[in-house]
Order: sequence, then structure tokens, then C-alpha cells
Amino acid sequence: MAGGASAIIGYGLTGRSLSRWLTLENESFKIFDSDPALSIRNSHKGMIEVLHVTAGWSAKNWEEALDGVVRLYLSPGVSLDSPAVRIARDQEIPVLTDLDLFNENIKKKPVIGVTGTNGKSTVVALIGHLLEMSGFSVAIGGNYGKPALDLLDEKADIYVLELSSFQLEKIQNLNLHTSVFLNFSDDHLDYHVSRASYLDAKRRIFDFSDRKVFYRQDKATFPDKEGLGAISFGFGNPSESESWGVRENQSDYCILRGSEEMCLVPKAYLGGRVHYLLNILAALASIYPFNSAARFESIESFEGLRHRFELVNEVNGVRFINDSKATNVSATEAALRNFESKEQVILILGGDAKGVDLSILEMSISKKVLGLVILALDPAPLLELGRRCGIETFATISMEEAVKEAYRLVNTSADAKNVILSPACASFDLFTDYQERGRSFEAAVKKLSEIG
Ligand code: ADP
Repeated sequence: MAGGASAIIGYGLTGRSLSRWLTLENESFKIFDSDPALSIRNSHKGMIEVLHVTAGWSAKNWEEALDGVVRLYLSPGVSLDSPAVRIARDQEIPVLTDLDLFNENIKKKPVIGVTGTNGKSTVVALIGHLLEMSGFSVAIGGNYGKPALDLLDEKADIYVLELSSFQLEKIQNLNLHTSVFLNFSDDHLDYHVSRASYLDAKRRIFDFSDRKVFYRQDKATFPDKEGLGAISFGFGNPSESESWGVRENQSDYCILRGSEEMCLVPKAYLGGRVHYLLNILAALASIYPFNSAARFESIESFEGLRHRFELVNEVNGVRFINDSKATNVSATEAALRNFESKEQVILILGGDAKGVDLSILEMSISKKVLGLVILALDPAPLLELGRRCGIETFATISMEEAVKEAYRLVNTSADAKNVILSPACASFDLFTDYQERGRSFEAAVKKLSEIG
């Protein structure tokens, strides 16, 4: 690109992919980051300056720092309300993202974009798997795995992107072959100022595509104008010929496209994860133009992702399920809906609630949970929730103790016995991330199984 430098705000995974890309393109750029200890490898030839931004930076600081900048790239976590964005807009500097740059360079290859509050990673991985099973080469990334720009090296036939609300609210240009909006509920209210702005960000996915896949049991996911290009998925029989649904039989689920029976998914394969059927429907609806033959053999070889309603072990008839990736209320509600009765479930819950009021879990916990173990640095609101649900509740900050206590609370005479870690919260109060939390659950279950 001729003349002037670019600027990148944030040197995380996305900022690093932008730096690599701009270097390959022989462009010059500045990096802004708030970490004073940030170390940047010298391999970015085009990098002309690293500026350490502080919260106290005035408009004048920003004006000076953005002098000569012709394009500003934001990392996903940078707010559109930040002074840098205000000043860039005043100065008519285009405010862009890595995805805009990805879009400029994708060379007309089809891209499938997936958003939603829950199930994004699973659906993106499943779409990738199904396409690969049909002989396509596929590159998967975005908010999952590799940043989008890093996928451009892979020379794939089809690209699949997980898109978060943080990304969607900032993208200017993206041409999606298919856009998928899986579901919507409260999350990230510590970042988005309101539920409405979180929803607006997610709904932007439909601005980027004419083929819009949505969940017909969740009104929030509906495209503005249904009709041409709108394809729904959900439980029950679909009323339109292009939409997807499911009929329950005794030992399997029959996947339908309109009135056509596409394939049978045995209940045994689902292992109690009924919500997972929705992910299968969304993935099949997304790939239909590329492969119209839905085959269970292709679905079956996808093992699901780690830490998402994953069976860890069975100890003396008690199933231990790791759903550490349930970092919001609706993921935990979806997990609990999979159980038939209250007698069957002990729930390990808690962490950083990200501004969401967890008392909305009261109904599902009262219906489906026999005993509650709170694993959180600040247990007070959850202790109150347990008291209101009238169930036995125990609080700890140790995973090992949480697992032991949950095991003690199990009703030994229930027909099915489950301990599930499905925290409805982020993990950052006690763990580095949800994976560490999940691994610590697995280790505690292993220890419990060894002592019997
Ligand atoms: P995301 O990438 O949107 O966070 P994941 O696939 O990582 O989604 O799953 C996050 C959590 O949501 C897990 O607890 C998982 O079991 C649950 N989940 C997966 N699919 C769905 C769905 N369709 N509806 C509700 N919850 C789901």
C-alpha cells in the first residue's frame, strides 16, 4: 500500500498476526500496547515504533501518536469507545480489523462465519471436519485457534471463521458465503454496555452474507428479513423445504431438511448431550451447498472438543462430566437440560460472573440439581442462590475439595448419578483459563478414583 504507516492497537494473538502480515507486505506500522514490559521480536521489519499507552493518555497524546497513520487496526478487545478510535475517526483514518485485511486478501474463496453465545467453537470444528470428510481442504480460525490472517497461508478450498461479538462489532467489510447465528443470551456484560449492544454486535454477522442460518427457537437470532437466503434450524419439523429439524425416535434422532429424512443420529452417540444436536443441525445447514449428503458416518468420527460436556470417568457408578467451557449461564442451563431428574445431578458452579446476575439460574438449579458445590473466590452470591433453591450447598476454593464434596453429596439410590463441572462463569478468579480449570477437575476425579 502506498504512503503512510498503519497502526495496530494491541499486541496479542491478533496484533501479532497483523504485524506478521504487514511485514510480509512490506508495510510500515506502529504498535500500541498498554503493557510497559511488552517485548517484541525484531523480525517485524516494517515496525517503526512501539508505543506504551497508558490510561492517562490525553487526546493530544493520541493525535501526536496517530500523526501520519493511514489505517488503524484494532485488536478484538479494544473498545470502539476508546479515545484512539474517536480521534482516528475525527481525522478520517479508516478504523479496521484483521478480518477486513483477511477479506481483502481471500481471493474469492468461500468463507463460512459462525457466531452465537454458545457452541461456536464446536460448530466451527464440526463444519471443518464434515467438509474435510467430503474431500475439501479447510482452514479454520478467527476467534478459535489461529487468527484469520494466519489462515491465508493455508491455501484452503473453504475457510471457516468463528466470530465473536468483539470482532463483529468492528469489522467493516467481510464477504461470507454463509453466516450462522447459533443462539443468544447474556454474556460479556462487563464489556458490552448492555444486552442490546451485545446483540447488535452479534447480529452484524447477517450484514456480511446473503445466506443466513439461524436458530428458529431463539428469536434473537432471526435475520431482519426472513425469506430468500434465510435458513432455520431447530428442534421439531421444519416448515420450509430448505430448513433443518429433528424428529425424536425411540433410539435415535432423525435429521430432517424440510420433509426429507437426511440421516439418523443414534442416542448412544450423543451420550446425553441433547443440545449437541443443534450444533449438528447448524453444521449440516451450513455445508449443504458444498455437500448435500448428510451422513452419520462423517458426524460420528468427530469426537467433540475438550472441556465441553465431556465425560471424564465413572467412579462407582457416578459419571463425572467436565463442562469447564460453560462460562455463562445459558451454557450451564443447556447442560442441565440434558438430565432427566433432580436426583441425578450435583453441580460444581462458580468463578468470575463477568457482570451477569447468576440468580437467573435459580429455576434450572431448583429443577435439576440436588446439591451445589461452589468453586469461587467470592462465593457469597452463589451461597445465597443455593439457599434460595433450598438445596445442600458447599463452598470451597479448592478443586480437589469440590470434587470430593460433590461425590459425597451424590444420591446413591438415584437411577443415574452425575457430578458436572459447569461453572456458568469465567475461570480467572482461581485458574489461568477454562482449560486449566478443566484439567484440574480431571486430576481431582483421577485422584478420587484411585482412593475409591
Ligand atoms: P463457544 O465457542 O461459543 O464458547 P463452545 O463450543 O466452546 O462454544 O461451547 C461452550 C459451552 O457451550 C460448552 O459448555 C458447551 O457444552 C456449550 N454448548 C455447546 N453447544 C451449545 C448449544 N448449541 N447451546 C447451548 N450450549 C452449547
